[in-house]
Amino acid sequence: MCEFCTRHGEGQKWYLTMSNYSRELWEQKGREDFTEHFMARFEEQYGKSVATLDRIANKPVLGRIVRRMVTRRQKTEHWGQIVPIEDAERILDMQDSVVRLPCVCRQVTTGRQERYCFGLGIDPSGFLGEYPDYSHSLEVLGKDESRKLLRLFDKQGLVHSIWTFKTPYIGGICNCDQDCVAYRLNVKSKLMKNMFRAEYVGLVDWDLCNGCKKCLLQCQFGAIHHSVTMKRVTIDTMQCYGCGVCRTVCDKEAIRLKARTDFARLPW
Ligand code: SF4
Ligand code: SF4
Ligand code: SF4
Repeated sequence: MCEFCTRHGEGQKWYLTMSNYSRELWEQKGREDFTEHFMARFEEQYGKSVATLDRIANKPVLGRIVRRMVTRRQKTEHWGQIVPIEDAERILDMQDSVVRLPCVCRQVTTGRQERYCFGLGIDPSGFLGEYPDYSHSLEVLGKDESRKLLRLFDKQGLVHSIWTFKTPYIGGICNCDQDCVAYRLNVKSKLMKNMFRAEYVGLVDWDLCNGCKKCLLQCQFGAIHHSVTMKRVTIDTMQCYGCGVCRTVCDKEAIRLKARTDFARLPW
């Protein structure tokens, strides 16, 4: 289990622990103000800093210092973890309300206004009135509706992740591609660490795999490799983030997830 499970998980996965979504926790330590400020300033703050951070990433020493400092702060403020669809659905089942929100990252990185975020336990008539201009489309989702959308996103290869607003309070599930700010900073430039990999890792059963390569296109992390000689694919467990979206395109059901902790020394 990741270090958050040990610290915030009450003996289980931290994101399956009810108290991390509780009203009591939300009302502590200025979380509402923090979240309101975070949402309202996201575009302004990250719009400028993504380009600057990309430049810093090319300076190895400075990059390492920034990464260490930012990681320490992010762990306490806004931290994510990738979750496969089964766990994302269990999280949705634990919620009283789910609100579909505009995606602030894609707005910053591409200018597109799309709605891939799910706010958990959020009262849409509350602080979200201050959400950036494109707040026109806040949408309260029923349980079936949110599950259906999640399945659709999974098929489209979007990676699910959960996010804290002042850790350990969990306030959202995101559904991301490579336009996500977290993807750019964690995976592409490796400048920031603000997201754990999933509690799982993908494995291919070579008795079932026919080498069709469909899963290769689905993986956002470049973890799947095709062997021309063996006519099969393999998953590089050091690269794999354990999102599980490669499974949705495999007609042979050749890919499954195993606990990350079953393997020695895999990164989180
Ligand atoms: S984390 Fe993903 S879904 Fe959430 S705002 Fe960023 S790109 Fe959008
Ligand atoms: S999609 Fe399935 S069968 Fe096709 S290469 Fe990937 S693991 Fe093998
Ligand atoms: S190989 Fe790993 S990272 Fe890539 S899609 Fe599959 S589970 Fe996700």
